[in-house]
Amino acid sequence: MGNHPSQQFFAGNVEVICGPMFSGKTEELIRRVRRAQIARQKVQIFKPAIDNRYHETNVVSHSSLEIAATPVIDAIDILKKLYDSTRIVAIDEIQFFDHSIIKIVKKLARRGVRVICAGLDQDYRGSSFGPMPELLAISDDVCKVQAICTVCGAGATKTYRKPSDNTEQVLVGEADLYEARCRTHFDYYGEDEDELLAFTVAVNPVDNQAELKL
Ligand SMILES: [Zn+2]
Repeated sequence: MGNHPSQQFFAGNVEVICGPMFSGKTEELIRRVRRAQIARQKVQIFKPAIDNRYHETNVVSHSSLEIAATPVIDAIDILKKLYDSTRIVAIDEIQFFDHSIIKIVKKLARRGVRVICAGLDQDYRGSSFGPMPELLAISDDVCKVQAICTVCGAGATKTYRKPSDNTEQVLVGEADLYEARCRTHFDYYGEDEDELLAFTVAVNPVDNQAELKL
């Protein structure tokens, strides 16, 4: 398999940790980074400059674990701030980057870097968030973590935004704005729901019957 001892070959890898808010994504990212640091591997941690909830230069989880991180204004900024000796790149809140982050992640992995990404897979409407679908598709390993539904205590895969006038997708906020919810208690009915309803009405009722018997 070409494992000649003189070959200095580092295999790159893309790992994604995703899920709703309050699911421990950042804790898991920090845990992986700490393990790499114990193994004396050179790690760099990045986060989008937009996410400044708690601290300008630290990645901070909801449970207040923290680790030094470099804020970047866009995906290219990661390459500009990368050291040659870096073996592991961790990127938190990766859903806030635009689609060019995919190229950057691929490029890093090709260079032999282990890339650990954490981010929200869905927004508060239950739609996929920014570059996440493609990132999940190109990754080698996906860890989808669940939070706890604030209504019933079941596993929560959705981020529910409490009623507000603001309908922007990106609203950096905390527990006063968002809650983790299970599918049953996530009752946002958006455009998708209307489209689906229109489709159901258009389907031949005879076909519907046949499907129900299966
Ligand atoms: Zn629930």
